[in-house]
Amino acid sequence: MSLTTIPQEKEVRGLNLIAAHSHITGLGLDADGLEPKPVSQGMVGQLKARKAAGVILRMVRQGKIAGRAVLVAGPPSTGKTAIAMGISQSLGSDVPFTTISGSEIYSLDISKTEALTQAFRKSIGVRIKEETEIIEGEVVEIQIDRSVTGGHKQGKLTIKTTDMETVYELGTKMIEGLAKEKVIAGDAISIDKATGRVTKLGRSYSRSRDYDAMGADTKFVQCPEGELQRRKEVIHTVSLHDIDVINSRTQGFLALFSGDVGEIRAEVREQINAKVAEWREEGKAEIVPGVLFIDEVHMLDIEAFSFINRALEDELAPIVIMATNRGLTTTRGTSDKSAHGLPVDLLDRIIIVSTHPYNADEIREILTIRAQEEEVDLHADALAILTKIGQESSLRYAANLIATANLIAAKRKSTIVEVGDVKRSYSLFLDSKRSVEFLSEPKEGAME
Ligand code: ATP
Repeated sequence: MSLTTIPQEKEVRGLNLIAAHSHITGLGLDADGLEPKPVSQGMVGQLKARKAAGVILRMVRQGKIAGRAVLVAGPPSTGKTAIAMGISQSLGSDVPFTTISGSEIYSLDISKTEALTQAFRKSIGVRIKEETEIIEGEVVEIQIDRSVTGGHKQGKLTIKTTDMETVYELGTKMIEGLAKEKVIAGDAISIDKATGRVTKLGRSYSRSRDYDAMGADTKFVQCPEGELQRRKEVIHTVSLHDIDVINSRTQGFLALFSGDVGEIRAEVREQINAKVAEWREEGKAEIVPGVLFIDEVHMLDIEAFSFINRALEDELAPIVIMATNRGLTTTRGTSDKSAHGLPVDLLDRIIIVSTHPYNADEIREILTIRAQEEEVDLHADALAILTKIGQESSLRYAANLIATANLIAAKRKSTIVEVGDVKRSYSLFLDSKRSVEFLSEPKEGAME
């Protein structure tokens, strides 16, 4: 089996969900990580829950979370996802953050346990160290198309390698890198084959006549000698699930783009685990436990809960953060009622954090941060009315109106969102309460 990995950007996962929380860069705690600041790292209020999340973060860092999970309980739109995101962000920028909703595991295509296994493995990162090959050589020819596109010089660069056996011709991408390095014919350079990055070597070039040919805006920039190297270590983080998908014979890496991966055979996963263990032993890779956020966890059934119970014991377990807005409720698949619909054996393992509704000031502050994040200018009156909507409907609904109101403002060629834009947006897009009312009103001439 050939193992291939591809670098993956965090944003690829759950685009919409992550976008809604893009303003959150951490838990907003003080330097000791103990006390939450009122407004920090995109986080507003919810101080008790953030303080508790800070303690959990400490446990994670000290490796004391193993075998346990976190449950965030609170009414809708009180920042449950936001707090999970804050924990994930505090752990590092390449730490995987996966979100699923309890009901997502019920699918016709794959079994519940497969859906959960995939979610778990998406939340475990493998930080892989790789050495990339660097070619050293001498620039013998530069052709630059002066019609600059997108601020980058386009063209062709030909270099001779130091052993003079090969001539590399590099295309546009490499030249983009070059635009920063200002390499001219005669320069000794090294090229990272993986990234196309060009580094000028030492001071071995001479000012040649080609300098003029490149135009007056071309400057000589000396690169530090230290950059002269043949091999360079690059690190990228992929999830175990990505490695599974790429190496599952029936799927191939294209499945990563369609998201439609189907079931992955157990043998594939076993082989991947063995390979990753080997890499870890050789010092080529390390495991980065990420965060798996399971929203509406009361939608899971007893089988799913047993799976989670077992999975938490696994050596390769992510940090599981569940969320619910239910109190005492029936555990699906049983006739028993229990706290948050969780079976007792799982309740024994969890740390509960509760969130509470926001006051008007906090809602206003969060909406202000969201508007900044979306680069929307809100008139003070528009912000006031959005805050009111946030209080009466939900924070999430009010936050969503920012983008739609901005489009309406743009249509009338205004760069500032005014009260009228918010009102129009409010009447065009119903919140769930009004939507239900609208549908239950008997209407004359309604279709049977
Ligand atoms: P649900 O129960 O509906 O899943 P939730 O409790 O997970 O909701 P979020 O989705 O986290 O609530 O919150 C709604 C929006 O408000 C999101 O955009 C979130 O980032 C933002 N938000 C919530 N709480 C905070 C906070 N304390 N500070 C900053 N932003 C917040």
